[in-house]
Amino acid sequence: MVIVLGAMHGSKQKRGQLSKYSWQCIALHACRKALIAIRRNHITESKMARRKLVYEGKAKILYEGTEPGTLVQYFKDDATAFNAEKKDIIEGKGVLNNRLSEFFMTGLNTLGVPTHFIKRLNMREQLIKAVEIVPLEVIVRNYAAGTMSKRLGIEEGTALPRPIVEFCLKDDALGDPLVSEEHIIAFNWASQQDLDDMLALALRVNDFLSGVMYGVGIRVADFKIEIGRVFEGDYQRLIIADEISPDSCRLWDLKTGKKLDKDVFRQDLGSLTDAYAEVARRLGVLPENPTQMTKPTLVN
Ligand code: C5P
Repeated sequence: MVIVLGAMHGSKQKRGQLSKYSWQCIALHACRKALIAIRRNHITESKMARRKLVYEGKAKILYEGTEPGTLVQYFKDDATAFNAEKKDIIEGKGVLNNRLSEFFMTGLNTLGVPTHFIKRLNMREQLIKAVEIVPLEVIVRNYAAGTMSKRLGIEEGTALPRPIVEFCLKDDALGDPLVSEEHIIAFNWASQQDLDDMLALALRVNDFLSGVMYGVGIRVADFKIEIGRVFEGDYQRLIIADEISPDSCRLWDLKTGKKLDKDVFRQDLGSLTDAYAEVARRLGVLPENPTQMTKPTLVN
C-alpha cells in the first residue's frame, strides 16, 4: 500500500496535464508493481525460511547448500564499520558485492588460485564450498592507510617499499587484533606450513587484484581476505573464502584518488552504492538495476 501511495505521490507533478483515465492507468500500474514487489519479497522470504541457516554475520548469511560440502552465501545490504559501532542499510550493496566477489573469485579460480566460489545463484546469493575458516584475517597493503597509518604514523597514500602482509585474529570482542607469526604458531591458530601457504595465496591475490584494477584505473591500496581449509582424504588444502569486494578492499581512483570502497561509508564521503556501482561499471559487471530484487521500497 505504501508503495502504491508512493508511486502516485511520485507522479504528482503531472497533475493537471493528465485526464481522469490517465490517472486510473497510473494507479492500476502502481498497484500491479506493488503486487509484484510484495510477491517477489514473499517468495524470497518463504524460500529462505525453508533453508537451514548455518551462520549469520554482519554482511552475509550462510545457508546449507543443495549438495554436501556446499553452502549458499547470501549478501545482505547491511553496512558496518568500526567493529559494528557504525551501522546502516545501504540498498543494493549486497547485489553489487555478490557480483563483484563473483568476478574476482572467478578470475582467481581461472588463474589457478583456488577459491570457495562455485557459481552465482541469483542477484544476492552464490553457491560456495564449505570450508573450515582459519581464524585469521589476512591483510595485504600496498599503500599506507587505515590502521597502519594510525599505528605507525605513516601518511595515508604513502607507497610501501613492498607489499606488506599482516595477520589479525578474527575476534570481534577483541577488535580483531594484529598478531605475529609467533602468536599464530604458539596458539595453534595455523601451522608454519599454513602460514607459508597463506602468504603465497595473499600475494597471488594481490598481483591479480592490483593488475585487474589497474586496467580500469583503480589503485588497490590494501585488502583483506579470509582463508579456509578444505579436506580431501587425508590432505587439507587452503583456499580463498568469504568475499572480495569493495567492503574488504581500499580502492582509489588512479587519477583523482577518489575513494571507491567502504571508506566512503566509514568517513561519510557520499553514496556507497554509487562508489561500488562505479567499480562494477568499470569492470563491466554492473547488474541492470542493483536496487531491484530487494524489498518493496518505502517511499516517504
Ligand atoms: O582497518 P585496516 O586499515 O586494518 O583495514 C585494512 C583493509 O582490510 C581494508 O581494506 C579494510 O577494508 C579491510 N578489513 C576488512 N575487514 C576487517 C578489517 C579490515 O575487510 N575486519
